[in-house]
Amino acid sequence: MEETKITLSEREMPGRWYNIAPDLPAPLPPVLHPGTGKPIGPQDLAPLFPMELIKQEVSQERYLDIPEEVQAIYRLWRPTPVYRARRLERALDTPAHIYYKYEGVSPAGSHKPNTAVAQAYYNKQEGVKRLATETGAGQWGSALALACQFFGLECKVYMVKVSYQQKPYRRILMETWGAKVVASPSQDTQAGRKVLAQDPSSPGSLGIAISEAVEDAATRDDTKYSLGSVLNHVLMHQTIIGQEARLQIEKAGEYPDLVVGCIGGGSNFSGLMLPFAQDKLKGGRKELRLVAVEPEAAPSLTRGVYAYDFGDTVGLTPLVKMYTLGHTFVPAAIHAGGLRYHGMAPLISHLYAHKVIECVAVHQRPVFEAAVQFARTEGIIPAPESAHAIRTVIDEALRAKQAGQRKTILFNLSGHGHFDLGAYDAYLSGKLEDYAYPKEKVEEALKALPKVAV
Ligand SMILES: *Cc1c(COP(=O)(O)O)cnc(C)c1O
Repeated sequence: MEETKITLSEREMPGRWYNIAPDLPAPLPPVLHPGTGKPIGPQDLAPLFPMELIKQEVSQERYLDIPEEVQAIYRLWRPTPVYRARRLERALDTPAHIYYKYEGVSPAGSHKPNTAVAQAYYNKQEGVKRLATETGAGQWGSALALACQFFGLECKVYMVKVSYQQKPYRRILMETWGAKVVASPSQDTQAGRKVLAQDPSSPGSLGIAISEAVEDAATRDDTKYSLGSVLNHVLMHQTIIGQEARLQIEKAGEYPDLVVGCIGGGSNFSGLMLPFAQDKLKGGRKELRLVAVEPEAAPSLTRGVYAYDFGDTVGLTPLVKMYTLGHTFVPAAIHAGGLRYHGMAPLISHLYAHKVIECVAVHQRPVFEAAVQFARTEGIIPAPESAHAIRTVIDEALRAKQAGQRKTILFNLSGHGHFDLGAYDAYLSGKLEDYAYPKEKVEEALKALPKVAV
């Protein structure tokens, strides 16, 4: 029998998150206070985050136990399966072995509940009543709405306006799980009103929505802020993915030559990749390639600069060193809404600067071509974000065929695309456009980078 799905029992689910901090080639650059330019301390973040998450953000401990209440919720859908993509392999006629970790089996349809549940838990533990957040395509907002519902917290979501308009079903998901949702830029915050005053038809961006959610949390005692990607603790919560996948690929009697994932803020790729990065940095797997895939329309790693910048558009967040297109850069309204961000996780940026990971940028039309080929062979309709990874996996599998090499490729299928069928419709009816790299707009935005004396 040809095995297709490699599963783990609930008992085999890892009980710890992996923190790569102590295994990094050099320490991460400090996070700076936007006013003073000095490294920030825990008290600076206390208005926004519960203390346990602030501690996790700077922790040097290699493993952190996952609380039993969080594990119990994880078990609603975890461990998630790893599939061997045999039908795709045959369609490509490639000697490569293609495996994918499928995170679309969570109730929200993506990897995001892995951190949403953990964050809601720690906020609840510290007496917080309400969480405010932003969402791009709606995956993060729905994950946090779900998690808040599990722990009896209120949830307010600032949803990027273009997605709010293109994706009403995600809003309905969030509302079904009990969240309050507004289109961002909104009239509910000063940050939103400021953007609307300048551009009443602003499509919004993750950066703007972050400004709104941060302001909401900072101005209310009962409320904290929650971020679905970028931060160290978020990336760490996602490492349950890669730890499971490492056990699964071992069960299949293989080890990957290539680990691939799409990057918006960097969390799903980190989740799969970091446990393998540990093997590469510490376990003698020097040849292992870790490949991030980003959209040409928001190419922060391949075309951005490695500099201190704000995480949001208005300039409310601390300054972090990352690959950035400039915090005032608003990416084109590509259909992979979860990848429309001007910056990149500091941890991903650090690993890229140290050449531990590599990155390719792809256009959205070839991405959808890959998505449809995947749907027609493997059955699952991938999220447009995840399809960026599929494009690169297919390209690598075809390269392996040309070279006659039997590569083993593992990628993260970070979510399903059932709420992105409008994008599939646009592709199938020939209406989808590619956006050239917006060189002038990026150059303009880079001029607005904050000046930092480091
Ligand atoms: C949000 C999202 C992404 C992008 O965010 P990362 O933090 O880079 O993972 C990718 N895929 C799916 C399905 C998402 O929901």
